[in-house]
Amino acid sequence: VQRESICILGATGSIGTNTLDVIRRHPERYRVFALTANQNIDLLFKQCVEFEPEYAVLTSSEHAESLQIRLAEHNVSSKVLVGDEQLAWVASHDHVDTVMAAIVGAAGLLPTLAAVKAAKKVLLANKEALVMSGAIFMQAVKESGATLLPIDSEHNAIFQCLPEHFVARGIQSCGIHNIVLTGSGGPFLTKPLAEFSVISPDEACAHPNWTMGRKISVDSATMMNKGLELIEACWLFDVQPQQIEVVLHPQSIIHSMVRYQDGSVLAQMGNPDMRTPIAHALAFPERISAGVEPLDFMQISQLTFEQPSYERYPCLKLAKEAMEQGGNTPARLNAANEVAVAAFLDEKINFDQIAVVIQQTLTETVYAEVIDLDSVLDADKQARDRAQHIVDGFAAN
Ligand code: NDP
Ligand code: MG
Repeated sequence: VQRESICILGATGSIGTNTLDVIRRHPERYRVFALTANQNIDLLFKQCVEFEPEYAVLTSSEHAESLQIRLAEHNVSSKVLVGDEQLAWVASHDHVDTVMAAIVGAAGLLPTLAAVKAAKKVLLANKEALVMSGAIFMQAVKESGATLLPIDSEHNAIFQCLPEHFVARGIQSCGIHNIVLTGSGGPFLTKPLAEFSVISPDEACAHPNWTMGRKISVDSATMMNKGLELIEACWLFDVQPQQIEVVLHPQSIIHSMVRYQDGSVLAQMGNPDMRTPIAHALAFPERISAGVEPLDFMQISQLTFEQPSYERYPCLKLAKEAMEQGGNTPARLNAANEVAVAAFLDEKINFDQIAVVIQQTLTETVYAEVIDLDSVLDADKQARDRAQHIVDGFAAN
């Protein structure tokens, strides 16, 4: 039997390493065709030694050269490639069956779209790509016949709670009442609002339940992550923002739910470990082991729920409104957020200024319909430049 051939975009990240951990447990099912990273060549080197991919892709030629030399010294035959075009090339290569899209942020858009257009099985972790380009992305999925499977734990949970025929028949004919998107509320669920201005990057990245990359950790602390996920869910499942209810669930055991018209509510549960959704999507429709601890109900003892406050989480409101407005607004929101989060991690702005930068960027940039990829990239650039200008103004004070 032919093994499934996998390309991992963002192999050195939190999702990338978890994906390799699942793959490592199933050498009879999977082989690694390509691994990509931005600059972590030490880890990419180790991964190439272990998995011997045909290709490794980096963003700078300097890094690529030094990785190629080290691989040659260790008799590893992986070829090292550089740059955006090569990234898209490996993601759409004929010898690839499945692409894990796990680059963080807008940088993941073009290679992920390349995988979609090449009709790959695309495992989507890179929510920013879908948030930016929603309509175009989903249209490309439809036209190519690519299989799109969600890795984001909430969306993977929703997918698992929907009937199998939802893609073919359309969700509106599945007897669904709404979708309940759960979120832990992050590390500052009970922190006094007066202390938000002095939150440090390390505090914001210390998530109570999940270990993740720094950008998504900050997004979880502001709940922009839940906002991006709301937008992501609208596109993935073809629902309106009003059909999504965001519920705080600090234990992160229920990963999301689907409410049906007959009163049934289906939930997917598990320990907060990304290897579960990764293994689910990799093996779908089969099931494989993922190395995840079984859920111990006696130890959890209780599951609690509450309503998120927009005062505590203004980013959640901004994201919901952006989706309601539509057009290029989600792309502008995403770009402004990326700039603001980077500035916060760089200690240029305070935690509570993230939402201010985003809101100001949205008012100072222009709404437009999204007609093609260029209109998405224009909106992204426009908002990125504007947000940077606003950040520089804050940083000067
Ligand atoms: P990380 O920051 O841990 O990893 C990001 C990966 O992308 C790394 O391999 C990094 O390479 C690479 N990368 C970064 N910038 C670029 C660039 N400009 N060009 C090419 N490659 C780049 O992020 P996560 O793994 O946490 O998140 C990845 C995606 O998955 C995000 O979109 C996130 O929202 C989503 N996600 C993550 C979850 C999690 O639990 N972590 C849960 C749900 C969704 P290098 O290491 O060299 O910098
Ligand atoms: Mg999530």
